Amino acid sequence: MPQTDPPYRSLRTQIALVFGGFSVFLAVVLCLLAGEFLKWRLQQQAATALHIVASNTATMLQQDLQQQSRRAQVLATSKELWEQGLASRGVADMLARMQHINPHNVWIGVADVHGTVQNATDHLLQGTDVSQRPWFQYAQSGPFISQVYTSQQLTQLLQKSADASAQALRVVDFAAPIQGPDGSLLGVLGIHSSWDWARDAVERLQQGAAKNNQQSIFIFDKAGTLIYAPDGATAPYTRLEQTLPEAMERNSPNANLVQWKDRAQPFLTSAVQLPTPSPANDLGWWIVARQPVEAAYADANRMLWLSLGFAGIAGLLTALVAWTLARHVSDDLKQLAQAASQIQAHTHASIPLLHSNREVFKLSQALSGMTAQLLRANEEMQKQVHRRTQELQAANAELQRQANTDALTQLLNRRGFDTQATLALALARRSGRPLSMISLDIDFFKSVNDQFGHDAGDSVLANLADILRQRTRQADIVARIGGEEFALLLPDTSASAAQQLAQELLESIERTPIPTVGHITVSAGVSSLRSEEASDDLHSMIKRSDEALYEAKRAGRNRVHRAG
Ligand code: GH3
Ligand code: MG
Ligand code: MG
Repeated sequence: MPQTDPPYRSLRTQIALVFGGFSVFLAVVLCLLAGEFLKWRLQQQAATALHIVASNTATMLQQDLQQQSRRAQVLATSKELWEQGLASRGVADMLARMQHINPHNVWIGVADVHGTVQNATDHLLQGTDVSQRPWFQYAQSGPFISQVYTSQQLTQLLQKSADASAQALRVVDFAAPIQGPDGSLLGVLGIHSSWDWARDAVERLQQGAAKNNQQSIFIFDKAGTLIYAPDGATAPYTRLEQTLPEAMERNSPNANLVQWKDRAQPFLTSAVQLPTPSPANDLGWWIVARQPVEAAYADANRMLWLSLGFAGIAGLLTALVAWTLARHVSDDLKQLAQAASQIQAHTHASIPLLHSNREVFKLSQALSGMTAQLLRANEEMQKQVHRRTQELQAANAELQRQANTDALTQLLNRRGFDTQATLALALARRSGRPLSMISLDIDFFKSVNDQFGHDAGDSVLANLADILRQRTRQADIVARIGGEEFALLLPDTSASAAQQLAQELLESIERTPIPTVGHITVSAGVSSLRSEEASDDLHSMIKRSDEALYEAKRAGRNRVHRAG
């Protein structure tokens, strides 16, 4: 099998990377989503808060305007006062008291139906013709509140009592018709009120939190002209030609980001128009609250960073948990792999049963079972191989035996005789002990066959073999070396002993009747190893005993001849 490098990353790293990465990603996404949602909610809240500031300011201004207007009306309808005459002392006192109540009222006066000022605080403008002034004209038919305007005349008149460095005086007029007991018009009551009261009113609201949040209030008139800026300082904005910002959702209970001229970054801005009490008093002022975007969204941004922090921590914790779990699983797999390697290396290791999870448990179980099965199969195979080897050896031995054995007599055949005789000769040579041999041939065997048949001949051969086996020793080598010829090699046997044995065999054979055939005879030739002749061998011994046998045949058969 080709050796391949194991993958670079472990299962544990892979699991931790996948789950850790995924959980970090998920945590970041979820926290970002939650953060974005919270940011959006906080931005909404900031917008709503700003809108509330604008609304509150508008309501309060409206109330102040109404209160001022109502005071003028109440005074204008005090019939007892006016019965004294517009220019009377009582009226003068009353006007002075009214100014005292509200120091922002810079001038209070009454004009007769022709527009001539009959009475005024500090007698200012007394006798002047105001018939062309809007407050006089509009207030003849009902209560009137003017737009904010700059009055050069009042500025000059009041110079002596005001700060010399003061700017031109900006005023709002409140006026109401003065009616006689019969309802006829007697004149008009007019109040020039310093616009500074707006500043006081706004600042009353703009305390504490609003200041810290950098929320500020602007007021634009119906035409979009700036009439109030924080601290009453409109000049810087007027120079920039700041009018009512166009891109603004007006009167919606909300706020949006608007570009102002005094700063590059936008402001969260909310605009509310003053409610209109009556068509005659439709001032149409815009109360605009603004807040720098970074201040408005500070909480929201903080929330986003907080969310990101949480996301990071949550992600890290999840990755840590994933790492720990992955280690648990991969440790088990590592153990299995090690055990399998040891088994592969033929050590007697066994697969442990592991329980970290179901898959690992099943894997270890399966591996364990498989290993046991393989080991059993291996053992069985070895046994079979051993058995087959034994069988083959036995078969081989049998073949060998058959190759060396004569099938009819079960004596050695020529080949078996040669093999064993060679060994016996070598032994006799080494030990110096005598070795003799008898060659034996059945007399007139041909006629046995002719007379009794071939099968009877065979049984004669088998019977003769039995006699030879019975009369010889274990160590003697007895063989059928031809058709009816036998050879006996006799270790430790001298020539005379061999001759004696041959004689006994002859007698024994002659005596023993064979079924069907009756008595037979044999002739024998005896020879011995010539130990004094180093060249004497088996071949020569056989030759000598054969010659002796031949002599015995010639001499009349049924006798033994010994080679000389
Ligand atoms: P002698 O006394 O001169 O030996 O005479 P003989 O007839 O025995 O000798 P011969 O060599 O003329 O004949 C041998 C006979 O042995 C011939 C053959 O038919 C017979 N023979 C050889 N082998 C077998 C065998 O295996 N079975 C049988 N039934 N007969 C065999
Ligand atoms: Mg023969
Ligand atoms: Mg013969």
